Amino acid sequence: MELIDTHCHLTFEQLADDVDSVIERSKAAGVIAWITVGTDNAENQKAVELAEKFDNLYVAAGIHPHDAKKVTNDDLKKLKQLAQNEKVVAIGETGLDFHYDFSSPAEQTRLFAAHLQIAAESNLPLIIHSRESFEDTIDILDKHGTSVSKVVFHCFGYTTQEAKIVLEKGFYISFTGSVTFKNAQKTREAAEIVPAEKLMIETDCPYMSPEPMRKQKINEPALLIHTAKFLAELKNIGFAEFAQTTTNTSKGFFNLPQAAR
Ligand SMILES: [Zn+2]
Ligand SMILES: [Zn+2]
Repeated sequence: MELIDTHCHLTFEQLADDVDSVIERSKAAGVIAWITVGTDNAENQKAVELAEKFDNLYVAAGIHPHDAKKVTNDDLKKLKQLAQNEKVVAIGETGLDFHYDFSSPAEQTRLFAAHLQIAAESNLPLIIHSRESFEDTIDILDKHGTSVSKVVFHCFGYTTQEAKIVLEKGFYISFTGSVTFKNAQKTREAAEIVPAEKLMIETDCPYMSPEPMRKQKINEPALLIHTAKFLAELKNIGFAEFAQTTTNTSKGFFNLPQAAR
């Protein structure tokens, strides 16, 4: 059994100091590849350096919508350069987050559109962070995203109806441990309708430890197994089959070497 953690933040301080043991525990739990996601250029740079040390550790490079108001043209240039690194397999996370207002919708929209352009020019798939902004997210993808090869909505927290719209557009959907939370009925209903071939899993660690490990303050890739088992059961798919399908989906989405292990 092999799983891929398609969205983690291994460069964040909660995990970075102890990253060798984090990776060891992850492998012991069957999680054999990782996409570590940058949220600004300092993190993107750290992520590339970390990925150079570990096999099967890859990078998504992006600037989080929270930081939109600080972003300069030089930052975007730097991001585009980083995207050329062979360990960078995606652009993101990017998108819109209207839950927090660290940056205005206009600033977030501009940064999101810039990421879409970089993803298209670099021919890389895109990781979307979208919270309380579904229609605007889809709008911008319709307007500026038509040349982007592949798109995933990460940490999906929208409804079944919204999941259907995402799937109709040919996009992918990824779930974190939040799907296991008691109050996440809506997310579970959405997960039920996502075909396993369009579904990926992630920890988004160090945040959001899944049940029954929610008390573990610092989430890590080893805990992905709980979300995987939960989703396999929810979707009535044997665990081995679920693991294999989502791992194949992830390898295809990020164009990872098929022999990755
Ligand atoms: Zn996110
Ligand atoms: Zn994240």
